[in-house]
Amino acid sequence: MKKLVAILLAGTMAVSLAACAAAAPAPAEPAAAEETAEEAVEAAEETAEAAEITTVEPGVLTMATNAYFPPYEYYEGDAIVGIDAEIAAAVAEKLGLELKIEDMEFDSIITAVTAGKADMGLAGMTVTEERKQNVNFSDSYATGIQAVVVPEDSDIASVDDLEGKKIGVQLGTTGDIYCSDDYGEENVEKFNKGNDAIMALVTGKVDAVVIDNEPAKSYVAANEGLKILETEYAVEDYAACIAKENTALLDAINGALAELKADGTLEQIVGKYISAE
Ligand code: GLN
Repeated sequence: MKKLVAILLAGTMAVSLAACAAAAPAPAEPAAAEETAEEAVEAAEETAEAAEITTVEPGVLTMATNAYFPPYEYYEGDAIVGIDAEIAAAVAEKLGLELKIEDMEFDSIITAVTAGKADMGLAGMTVTEERKQNVNFSDSYATGIQAVVVPEDSDIASVDDLEGKKIGVQLGTTGDIYCSDDYGEENVEKFNKGNDAIMALVTGKVDAVVIDNEPAKSYVAANEGLKILETEYAVEDYAACIAKENTALLDAINGALAELKADGTLEQIVGKYISAE
């Protein structure tokens, strides 16, 4: 049905275009040349935009991340790959900058950005009101879910059963913040890496791990005897964080993200790493 409507519409448009062409005088220049001129203007604007952006290192876009967060960022040999790494590369290209990725603890990313050591944090980072006090966030490029990982034979069946249990989290993440608030600091074990929290779960040192759903899937696939609870703990938005004073970079990144969304690049990058369920 949709297709039929499209064909009908296309037909109508062709007819009205033909009518226009008959009535209007012939264009002075061929359409192709006009397009090229437009493209040249656009390219010049982009270069001008790039020239106005100030980065920590001139000509370089420095991204701070924690490369233990598959499939958003992880090591493949010596290279950091993943959704965020590819989005950053595409953004850098649009801005005419060279991408440099700095791996650090998740908990250090915002400080690196505010202290002028990195231009942006891109780390499957959730937009929160608290973080917004220190950094600006770009438009969101993905949705994240705080998931609960437990041993297959666990008696924990839903988020409510976490009461009084030992919960493993990654330090400074929203999983850490929410669990510490909801179940008490004394019940939350904080690890520098998500994988360390999972190892504690495998060895029975904690009863559950609260972590973002995509890394959770990778960890469950890599370790026998674990499962992800059906109930989601929280649904969140991922975005890049940028120093408050660098609004030119914020605007440029938002512009690049919008273009990458519009031309399907973003979807294609995500599709490479996350198969649709
Ligand atoms: N999305 C979570 C947060 O922002 C975890 C991100 C991460 O561990 N890289 O806190």
